[in-house]
Amino acid sequence: MIEIAVAKGDGIGPEIMEAVLHIFKAAGAPLNYQFVEMGKWVFDKGFGNGMTPEAKSTIEQLGILFKGPMETPKGKGVKSINVTARKTWNTYANKRTFQTLHGVNTVFSKAGIPIDLTVVRENIEDTYGGIEHQLTEDVAISRRIITRPGSEQVIRYAFEMARQKKARRVTCVHKANIMKITDGMFLNTFHKIAQQYPELTVDDIIVDDLCMKMVTRPESFDVLVLTNLQGDIVSDLCAGLIGGLGFAPSANIGDNICIFEAVHGTAPDIAGKNIANPTALLLSGIAMLQHLGLNATAAKIENALLYTLEQGFHTGDFGDKATAALNTTAFAEKIIAHFGKTPKTGAKTAVADQPIKIEVPQLQENLLLHAKEPVTKTLAGVDFFIDSTAQPGEIAALAQKYSTADLPLINISNRGTQVWPEGSKFTVLVDNYTLRFEATEGQAVTQQTIIDLYTKLANEFQITSVETLLEINGQKVYSLAQGQ
Ligand code: NAD
Repeated sequence: MIEIAVAKGDGIGPEIMEAVLHIFKAAGAPLNYQFVEMGKWVFDKGFGNGMTPEAKSTIEQLGILFKGPMETPKGKGVKSINVTARKTWNTYANKRTFQTLHGVNTVFSKAGIPIDLTVVRENIEDTYGGIEHQLTEDVAISRRIITRPGSEQVIRYAFEMARQKKARRVTCVHKANIMKITDGMFLNTFHKIAQQYPELTVDDIIVDDLCMKMVTRPESFDVLVLTNLQGDIVSDLCAGLIGGLGFAPSANIGDNICIFEAVHGTAPDIAGKNIANPTALLLSGIAMLQHLGLNATAAKIENALLYTLEQGFHTGDFGDKATAALNTTAFAEKIIAHFGKTPKTGAKTAVADQPIKIEVPQLQENLLLHAKEPVTKTLAGVDFFIDSTAQPGEIAALAQKYSTADLPLINISNRGTQVWPEGSKFTVLVDNYTLRFEATEGQAVTQQTIIDLYTKLANEFQITSVETLLEINGQKVYSLAQGQ
């Protein structure tokens, strides 16, 4: 028996979870459940992270969480429980699979175009750090954090998974043509790791181009690996291709803790009516069984599910309106009645169950991810962001007083577009400028130089933030202003 933590969730969560656990029991899945308290009522009781301390310690002990959808109360300033869980336990890879399900009609299934896609989305970094600040009356910023070790973890997972499934193609999706430093790091990491998988066909594509190709030729893709926000959007696009979020399973994979959940929400409009579709949670449960080495049990359930769909049985949210919809319980019973049946298309074969032993290490301190190769880092200058509604020339006149031969003011930009020394009167300004001081060739900048400059500039301007400019191994690792 494998022991796992289960959180039923809010809204339709308890109904669909009950249906799925009933199917697991009927299939003889060797699982024991420890039910934990997470979600809306836990927030309501005053636990700001949406889980009780007991839930946290149970999950950290068992290493596997199977969860229903959860509601994050709006307007209370609390962060999403779903995002908190993924980030707290470093489930760095979000794996979602999208396959044609016969019985779920889409434009592609009607046209006979098969879809079999796996999206591996980085799950922790990017704008999901939720690090945001309003700098001035009119300007707000969000920090987009991409790290090399964070990218390595998720990309390596994608390649290992692709190797196992003998993927036709592994594609890195990005926007490195615009975000050269952040997405550039993700893309470079992808190509570096790809060298260790010579048997796989790899390529990369810009995210907007991918979206277009995904709706015109989805069958040409197989495994996609992306950063967090782009992955979030692309995976919902993929869900649309196969019939919607009700058919999209999701696995959040970490080295120590994994979370399996449906990606749809709590569906408050239909909660408590026993009419919700349990398919997405069941598919996530099947992914969990496979992860636990329970392949035969997973295949038995998946074949019965595919057969049920193929036969035209459906809940109210999909399928042929001419045939009566089944409620949640009846749909689950139908799947159980179909154990042993095989669908005409997409039948799963699996080796015998080989349950894995889950051992979660007892950590004494937090793990630190750090690049293994030593680098040389040099301070090359500084960007000061200031609050001002003055014209660029007026700002330059004041800032130039502090420009030196070693660390001159080299440009001023507004919303990333250079407005001084060259610029266009047609560039529309907002109340936040960037003053860039960059060291002349061969001149070293120290932290003290920057502090001294800050002190002087603070006499002239309201400084809203500061970013240092770095050279790593002799390469400038900061963006140029548009037009610079
Ligand atoms: P939703 O997914 O709950 O609902 C969107 C629509 O899809 C509704 O019409 C709903 O009835 C339908 N739907 C969703 N799941 C269904 C199912 N299994 N069977 C049949 N119909 C289904 O999205 P929402 O309304 O934007 O969000 C509601 C709540 O869910 C919010 O509080 C949100 O924060 C939360 N949420 C949680 C998760 C999660 O736990 N992973 C994900 C998304 C949203």
